Amino acid sequence: MCVFCSIIEGNIPSKKVYEDEDTLAILDLSQTTEGHTLVMPKKHYDNFLEMPDDEFGALMEKTHSVAKKIIHSLDAKGCNILINTNEVAGQSVMHTHVHIIPRYSENDTVCFSFKENQKDLDEVLNKINRN
Ligand code: ZN
Repeated sequence: MCVFCSIIEGNIPSKKVYEDEDTLAILDLSQTTEGHTLVMPKKHYDNFLEMPDDEFGALMEKTHSVAKKIIHSLDAKGCNILINTNEVAGQSVMHTHVHIIPRYSENDTVCFSFKENQKDLDEVLNKINRN
């Protein structure tokens, strides 16, 4: 059983931010920033690509509502919503989860870097839309 399924089953303790029949939101142990939270479906999917559209839609609705609560209650100035998908993208637990990372300052402990990567945009679009 995966570690998040064990948390959902109650076999591993967690700090619950939100819970309903289908969804669990818990504090991330790293607390990269104060309030860093993981929102996950209770049903196991390795990653969000495997989720049916309606279940993913429901997960994002819950994420929206939990993020608003966190940002408001902790007086954050913004947030990043992040879904790492597969190891290549930094997914460390293979149970779909959405990171809510509250942001308090541009100089906090979070760093995303989007380096310029020269690509022919038409070529990229053709690849995406060829089927
Ligand atoms: Zn799982």
